[in-house]
Amino acid sequence: MFIELVDALRCPVPHEESWLVAAAVRMEARHIVEGTLGCPVCSAEYPVRDGVVDFRRAGGSIIAAQVSSDADLAMRLAALLNLADAQGFAVLLGEWGAQAHELASIVETPLVVVDPPLGIVGAPGVSVLRCDGDVPLAVGAARAVAIDDGSASRAASAVRATRAKGRVVAPVSVAVPSDVTELARDETMWVGERSALESPLITLHVRRST
Ligand SMILES: [Zn+2]
Repeated sequence: MFIELVDALRCPVPHEESWLVAAAVRMEARHIVEGTLGCPVCSAEYPVRDGVVDFRRAGGSIIAAQVSSDADLAMRLAALLNLADAQGFAVLLGEWGAQAHELASIVETPLVVVDPPLGIVGAPGVSVLRCDGDVPLAVGAARAVAIDDGSASRAASAVRATRAKGRVVAPVSVAVPSDVTELARDETMWVGERSALESPLITLHVRRST
């Protein structure tokens, strides 16, 4: 887990939004390899083992199907997600995680890989999260996200974690969410842009004099 991305992680327990406090036992190249992330609100602790942060509470987890890494697909993904520089971070959900190491070899953008196929481990540039629910990231924290056709609520939470105008990429089997504007599609995937983040309604109170 890249130490600079810890600020973007959020406790998945439903309570007021809180960042997490990292305690590293072993670090390599500014990545926590072994350690713990603790929530100051509910005292939950999430272990980091082999660079993988484990947010699972129920024990279950979604393991994506094994797909092989593909240099051409990783190159397309880099272009569609618009990862032209090292700013921010991009999120790869599920099966897309199989492309993480190929993608990390061609872009400098840090990658957060959520519930990838087995065997995808953390490395410099690749931070791996395991969860059993929504993506534990702050709203609008990611610059771009590739969602899969696994859990719809997890995909929706990943879109919420994308900043306004951030790129969203998905296979054509996934419907374009209402908070995404489609930019282009081909026979295998579509790319869109995250709409402006909802802001709370402002009510104008007009005081009338009689
Ligand atoms: Zn908590």
